[in-house]
Amino acid sequence: MKSDQYILLEDEFGAHNYKPLDVVIERGEGIWVWDVDGKKYLDCLSAYSAINQGHCNKKIMAAMVEQAKRLTLTSRAFRNDQLGPLYKELCDLTNSHKVLPMNSGAEAVETAIKAVRKWGYQVKGVPENKAEIIVCRNNFHGRTISIISFSTDPVSTTGFGPFTPGFKIVDFGDTAALEDAITDNTVAFMVEPIQGEAGVIIPPEGYLREVRRICTEKGIVLIFDEIQTGLGRTGAMLAEEHEGVEADLTLIGKALSGGFYPVSAVLSNTEVLGVLKPGEHGSTFGGNPLACAIARAALKVLVEDGLIENAREMGTYFLEGLKQIDNPKIKEVRGRGLLIGLEFHDTAGGARQYCEQLKDAGLLCKETHQTIIRFAPPLVITKEEIDWALEKITPILSR
Ligand SMILES: *Cc1c(COP(=O)(O)O)cnc(C)c1O
Repeated sequence: MKSDQYILLEDEFGAHNYKPLDVVIERGEGIWVWDVDGKKYLDCLSAYSAINQGHCNKKIMAAMVEQAKRLTLTSRAFRNDQLGPLYKELCDLTNSHKVLPMNSGAEAVETAIKAVRKWGYQVKGVPENKAEIIVCRNNFHGRTISIISFSTDPVSTTGFGPFTPGFKIVDFGDTAALEDAITDNTVAFMVEPIQGEAGVIIPPEGYLREVRRICTEKGIVLIFDEIQTGLGRTGAMLAEEHEGVEADLTLIGKALSGGFYPVSAVLSNTEVLGVLKPGEHGSTFGGNPLACAIARAALKVLVEDGLIENAREMGTYFLEGLKQIDNPKIKEVRGRGLLIGLEFHDTAGGARQYCEQLKDAGLLCKETHQTIIRFAPPLVITKEEIDWALEKITPILSR
């Protein structure tokens, strides 16, 4: 079948909750993907940073196949021989004390919400059903009802009420607003160290440190959602390291499996996860041995193949190259590691047209919020490959 026919099938029989570029991919390797017509593209999105280790990474695939032959699922009614080792390796790598494994990112967020509420009632002494969690404007934490209840994006919320109460919104980057919003009933502040879906929004220098100080002083739990920024993407294992701070709960997902499987986790370095008792939370697939074996290999690849340092070096190089593009329609190019956002002025006519042209030139990029293009290739990218990309990108984004 040709691309057109696959597209027709998707459009006729599938829900239209996405508006993908019309490229039908059938194969991937490293930074490259191929469509059904045999055309090759550089993947500049990495499935929203789930493919940090590159498409079909051979070491992760080998671990997955090995494990799939031995044991895939026991449920947590029984133990398995992959879970404990994954916990230990994750704690060592991220300086955490406890892990709770789930599947999707949204489930990790939901888990954190439940844990901090319970912590609020049991440890902090907040009156039952009064717990408040503070989040930031323009956040993205997932798509469940509770999570969209504190989204500020009307596209995510319109028509989906009634919503879950118990959330307060403050501006991202504004520590005074955070301090003002905290009450006796506040149990946690949840924030992305860099807002990914909002368009790679980097907070002012010192923001995370100040947030850490405020949360400690006021006795509330600090949650970093590192589902997109974590696991090497920004040139550090966790983006919090750029400011030398540690959250109380850290959420990871996406690249935790290198794109082979949905695996997420809540990492905790306080007693917060300890409030969850047997039967109070769980998931049939969470912590299954196949997921654990994949995650162990995905973490190993990040460290052993030097992908975190590569993200730092290549990110700087790519960012500098993009900044050289001379076009008054470009408002700003910003990034950390290989999480880069290029923002056009509102008058430029939108970023989608550029993504279409980049696609024709062999680069897959996705616009976010109409005016921003995110460049986030797999962390295995080399300098020569970035040169190749810049050669294609520069003339198109100069128009
Ligand atoms: C992608 C993402 C999520 C949600 O993850 P899913 O696996 O899509 O549920 C949550 N938080 C952030 C910051 C994300 O980028």
